[in-house]
Amino acid sequence: MSLDFSIKTLIFTIVIGHLFSGILGIAYMIQHKKDSSLYIFLFARLFDTIAWVFLGLRDVINIFISISLGNSFLIIAQTTQIIAFLIIKKRCNKLIKRAYVIASAISIVVIHLAILLQYTEGVRISIMSISMIILWCFPIYVFLMDKNSSVLQKTVAFIYLAGFILLILRAYMGIGLRESVSLMSNNIYNVLFFLCLYLIMLIGNIGFILMAKEKSDLELTKVATYDELTGIFNRREFLLRAKENVSLFSRRKEPISFFLIDLDNFKKINDIYGHFAGDMVLKDFAVKIKSQLRDYDLFGRIGGEEFTVLLPGTNEKEALEVAERLRRIAEKATVNVGRDHIIKYTISIGIVTVIPDEHTSINTLYKISDDALYAAKRNGRNRIEVVK
Ligand code: GH3
Ligand code: MG
Ligand code: MG
Repeated sequence: MSLDFSIKTLIFTIVIGHLFSGILGIAYMIQHKKDSSLYIFLFARLFDTIAWVFLGLRDVINIFISISLGNSFLIIAQTTQIIAFLIIKKRCNKLIKRAYVIASAISIVVIHLAILLQYTEGVRISIMSISMIILWCFPIYVFLMDKNSSVLQKTVAFIYLAGFILLILRAYMGIGLRESVSLMSNNIYNVLFFLCLYLIMLIGNIGFILMAKEKSDLELTKVATYDELTGIFNRREFLLRAKENVSLFSRRKEPISFFLIDLDNFKKINDIYGHFAGDMVLKDFAVKIKSQLRDYDLFGRIGGEEFTVLLPGTNEKEALEVAERLRRIAEKATVNVGRDHIIKYTISIGIVTVIPDEHTSINTLYKISDDALYAAKRNGRNRIEVVK
């Protein structure tokens, strides 16, 4: 088997690889239409397929068409792929999209100038490699430097970084060693280059799909954990974590305090200012209370305008101090709901403090704090009552 055959085989494998990624992508998209990043990634792979078909057919079709369309589609494919990566990372805005459209248009113009001015293939390959380097700088930087990047995102970025270094080498070789980089030339550099390209394509596909899955898993967890309106724990998550705390503190034989908080006359706020203003009050309340609690305290929305707090390791006296602070913060709060309407609100709190044992359940704490809360309402609201 000659090396020439190897290069053609590799290019053919790349075409087939891109094509099947595209087909698998379409199969996925039929049921997951909402995932726009995957949709864009799929288009990138189809552009890649077209690019390599044109580049691979240079002996069969007009060489000018092969080089012109092959390189143009290659640039478009890279830009599309980068946009898909940036969408996954939530780092793609209109400005960035525009910058990429401009950068790829410039790259296409420059490569066509090189073709028209009949520069050697080595120079053209250098120009293409430099274009790719410029295009890939930003996403690689974003994925590697963002401290919120997942292990998967960093790993994929490292592999792309390897490809990036390969491009720098190829850009250098294009100018220095002319013939050896020529697309179809029989040499080990080319075989290695196309093998690496093939590997990066494979890893890119798997990496991208895993990243999309990681992102949707994260979104699902978020929906299942947090209350959509206020951003604090929802009922399910609060109860789950509260149970863990009960069993932990029953082993430690240390107290926990549980608050049931209800906004006073909230129905009136809704009736006078509307449901939207009511929502703004709930958000304001949640943000203010959250800022008063420690990292390991639990705060959740248990129902409409009913909230719960669990203070681990907090005795009755400390709990009362915290509750009083929360009550005063709510009392002082003002919410501007537009049209010069300023809403003021108050809260009532029922508190229970126990050193839990194996019989203590969150349900019981909830029930008895509800009795205390009811007493607070009965005794005039904007009050705290403690279960004795
Ligand atoms: P009390 O002082 O006795 O607690 O009186 P209240 O009016 O606050 O009590 P009630 O339970 O009668 O009313 C609670 C209201 O909260 C009724 C419901 O429409 C409203 N509500 C529940 N969930 C939401 C929500 O998500 N947004 C808004 N804006 N209102 C909500
Ligand atoms: Mg209420
Ligand atoms: Mg209520």
